[in-house]
Amino acid sequence: MTIGILGGGQLGYMLALAGYPLDFHFRFLDPSPQAPVGRIAPRVTAEYTDYEALDRFAHGLALVTYEFENVPVEAARHLAKHVPVYPPPEALEAAQDRLEEKTLFRKLRIPTTEFVALSSAAELAAAVQTLGLPCVLKTRRLGYDGKGQWVLRTPEDVAALNRDFPAAPLILEKFVSFERELSILAVRGRKGETAFYPLVENHHRGGILRLSLAPAPQLSLGLQHEAENAARRILEALDYVGVLAVELFESRGRLLANEIAPRVHNSGHWSIEGAVASQFQNHLRAVAGLPLGATRTLGHSAMLNLIGELPEAAELLAIPDAHLHLYGKSPRPGRKVGHVTVRADSSEQLALRLKQLPAFFQREEFCLPVQTSSVAK
Ligand code: AMP
Repeated sequence: MTIGILGGGQLGYMLALAGYPLDFHFRFLDPSPQAPVGRIAPRVTAEYTDYEALDRFAHGLALVTYEFENVPVEAARHLAKHVPVYPPPEALEAAQDRLEEKTLFRKLRIPTTEFVALSSAAELAAAVQTLGLPCVLKTRRLGYDGKGQWVLRTPEDVAALNRDFPAAPLILEKFVSFERELSILAVRGRKGETAFYPLVENHHRGGILRLSLAPAPQLSLGLQHEAENAARRILEALDYVGVLAVELFESRGRLLANEIAPRVHNSGHWSIEGAVASQFQNHLRAVAGLPLGATRTLGHSAMLNLIGELPEAAELLAIPDAHLHLYGKSPRPGRKVGHVTVRADSSEQLALRLKQLPAFFQREEFCLPVQTSSVAK
């Protein structure tokens, strides 16, 4: 079976690596001739809006999925006329627009922060009045890794933004003073069966994910159930097939949904070594109509993103159960070029292994040291 994947970045690369043992073949479509998957799979280099290229790409494929959430919905709909596309294009559509996404949460009674849509500077004052300061202005579309966002803390921030107002549809959100950021990876198969990974705790710097701890320290059964229920409602509402990530804030012991990603997710990379079946394998099992794999964790894992530069491999690999994943991208500031997962049998052992990591990882941006204890309450 040949599976087509829209997008040829590291997520696609890791999907292919997980799929080869199941005898899947892959074909990718990406606008960049330098896309990482070029190392391991055939690809079509074309814009997502090039319908002739899409038709060439789709010829002979069993199904199409995506690893990039900003694929134009029209491209997914065009492909869906010829070949099954999972997750459904409607899920892509909901995830691409922060207003639709938050409206979906509200419709499904999933707690989220208060929000208001706006499109002009004239509407800003009233929106700020409604929500109160501090708040966060975001572009509805195409924002990622903290881009297209402005935190407004004071009336001066509002005045300054008014003078240089972004020309795009926007959403204003009430600022959440959260204790921590979490995410849940969920998967739904073609027959509607579901499975959930444990909540993961995520640490960011400069708007980019740096560190994920799985399972999240101090994870209670109640919090896990709350997250699973929210994810399940979203999966069912969208008639979803594949892996879905839901990003959440924990605030005063409650979860508030922030956004969804209709694809495998950076905060699930730990599952390659830290779970019975990885998010990549489970995504492929789901879209191919195979039984889902167990999401049970194998001990405790920490995933550290390599952003812009690479560590000395030999020094890192001297740590027991440390795993290095390089994506074949040339290092550039702010660019995700790989990740490291450190796995251990207990949270204490994980804390010890993280302390043993080379000096490269002890810099502030890696967000270490962390509290890793994960005693269920
Ligand atoms: P997003 O692109 O929505 O994932 O936002 C990027 C980051 O900005 C999040 O990971 C949070 O750290 C922060 N953030 C986003 N929305 C809010 C909010 N409403 N209140 C507080 N922080 C936020």
